[in-house]
Amino acid sequence: MLIPSVIRQFFLPRYDSTEFRRAQYFELSRQIPLMYAIVIVNMIMLALTYVDKAPAVLSIWTPAFFVTVCLVRAIRMVIGRAQAPSDAVIEKALRTVVVLACTMGIAVSVWSLLLFSYGDTYTKVQNTFFTGITIIAVMTCLRPLRQVAPILFLLVVLPTAAFLALQDHTVFHAIAINMVLAIGGMIVVMQRSHSDFRQRIEKEVELDRQRKQLQSLNAEVSLLANQDSLTGLANRRCFFDHLERRIADHHAGRARQPFAVGVLDLDGFKPVNDIFGHGVGDQLLREVGERLTANLPEGTLLARLGGDEFALILWEIGKEDDLKAICTHALEALEPPFVFQEGSVTISATCGIACFPGVATSGEELFEKADFALYYSKEYEKGAVAIFSDLHEAEIKKTAAVAQRLRAVDEDAFHLAYQPIVDRNGYALGFEALARWHDPVLGDVRPDVFIRVAEQAGIIGKVTVPLFRSALRAARTWPDNLRLSFNLSAFDVCSQSTMEAILREIEVGGIPPTRLMFEITESAIMQDFSRAVEALARLRAKGAAVALDDFGTGYSSLSYLRRLPIDRIKVDQSFIQDLEKEASARDMMRTISAMCQSLGLQCIVEGVETHAQLQFLSAAGCDGYQGYLFARPMPLTAISRYLADQERLRERA
Ligand code: C2E
Ligand code: CA
Ligand code: CA
Repeated sequence: MLIPSVIRQFFLPRYDSTEFRRAQYFELSRQIPLMYAIVIVNMIMLALTYVDKAPAVLSIWTPAFFVTVCLVRAIRMVIGRAQAPSDAVIEKALRTVVVLACTMGIAVSVWSLLLFSYGDTYTKVQNTFFTGITIIAVMTCLRPLRQVAPILFLLVVLPTAAFLALQDHTVFHAIAINMVLAIGGMIVVMQRSHSDFRQRIEKEVELDRQRKQLQSLNAEVSLLANQDSLTGLANRRCFFDHLERRIADHHAGRARQPFAVGVLDLDGFKPVNDIFGHGVGDQLLREVGERLTANLPEGTLLARLGGDEFALILWEIGKEDDLKAICTHALEALEPPFVFQEGSVTISATCGIACFPGVATSGEELFEKADFALYYSKEYEKGAVAIFSDLHEAEIKKTAAVAQRLRAVDEDAFHLAYQPIVDRNGYALGFEALARWHDPVLGDVRPDVFIRVAEQAGIIGKVTVPLFRSALRAARTWPDNLRLSFNLSAFDVCSQSTMEAILREIEVGGIPPTRLMFEITESAIMQDFSRAVEALARLRAKGAAVALDDFGTGYSSLSYLRRLPIDRIKVDQSFIQDLEKEASARDMMRTISAMCQSLGLQCIVEGVETHAQLQFLSAAGCDGYQGYLFARPMPLTAISRYLADQERLRERA
């Protein structure tokens, strides 16, 4: 009862892992062909010694059959191994090996014992040698299958030993004892080596599992590292990775298709954050990401670079018009209002595009050019799609030339012109100081141009503070009731050192700070809201006043204005230009004026050029006027005459 159950246990599948079974299979498949080779050689040798002694059935046909079986099995094993077998195939193959080892073991040993009686003493000894050596070879080769050796011991070794024990020569008795003890000992050694084998495989399996776990962790980490956590889009790093890889492929000749990089910036996002809070801002960004994804061609890489800046790579591009149409379509998807519980929000976006390999050779250059097209478009055609072109190239060259000249000149290259700000009767309330630069090489350069370039080149410090000093010097000579308005750029209000210098100049300037008015544009405040607000608060704490310049060109809203530390707004010229033509501009102007009154802000209008405009504006209740109708910006030397004219005017009145 016990022995069959042991045998059954050996035949039954053990609950080994599939990895272990696989390792067993591969280990065996390396050894089995060799094992068959040994067995075949051994059988042929044994058969040869009996050819002239035993009947052909035993000495030729039986060994021939065995050799054929061995050959077929060996070949199948070699072929099977090369075919990456499935787990089921492996399981089946392993069982076949066990079953075949047992049946062949019995068959071959029966065959050798049948031959035994035909031989003389020498051949009989050779016969037992054959059995011993063959069984050892088979057991050694099938070592990965732990059950094979004990089974063969039971089915082959013990019966053979018993058969030898029955012979009437003590040599055979000795061989029988020797065989049982030696092979039995060997089996013990093999069982140990089998458990080493098992441990080795288990370790390998464990290592493999750990490696796979590490791989999946790596994949997760790299996903996180390449994903923008807010929108789920690709992030800046992922975007540049793709871009650089694609350009490397192009240079290596692996990808020849032209493609385009787009940079997309939301117009009017910052006020959303300020008014509705960051929760709504985040929701808005997520929805922008979704709308863009849904409206861009499939496969486009869309990334959020940070803040409200998105970037995209269009892998396949056609004509310039098609490219523009694709991006315009995506921008149009942002037009319908974004509706949140807190309220609905309307925004737009501007997009700059640069094509590869047309305008750049590196990823960085390509991105910079798309960014330049964006920046340029934001300046001149907000909400549009701009493809980097010769125009932009020329603009870059011009900017570079301006920057180069700016670096070369010293601070007294710049001077100021002064434009009066007047009341409805044309009497001066003060002057706005406007920067001027006449360069011997470039000629007259517009202040908005050289100031922007000076900011970008990091040399605005050379312009602002010296000009402010000279403006203060000029204002000291004016009547006490006249104010000095001075423009500050985004860079100025965000620069700690510039603000310190301005505050110092105010202290030593020799005129009461209440006569000073600082003008700052909305877009400058938007660039770094909290810093700008802090800087403005410091100026006001000193007693100076603050005006919000170019009002109406940005995103000022009522609730927004209330939060700003300002005393007046300067309505942008573009409104005034449209007054005579458009009723909506007139409505807008009336609203702005009423809003200023209710918020206690002075309302100044710029760019007044005609009497009709003045008439309308004064009826709307504006507080101050500036424009060619009254006076153009004038050099310092012209001011005394202007003031004298004003005096005469007053006397006549
Ligand atoms: P802004 O502060 O809005 O200055 C008003 C601009 O409108 C001036 O141009 C002025 O000459 C022009 N202007 C005045 N009246 C009229 C009019 O009736 N019709 C028309 N068409 N234009 C009129 P300007 O001097 O070329 O200055 C342009 C911009 O450059 C300024 O706009 C200001 O943003 C900037 N800027 C000028 N000086 C400085 C400065 O010292 N510092 C800074 N940060 N920016 C300055
Ligand atoms: Ca101004
Ligand atoms: Ca202005």
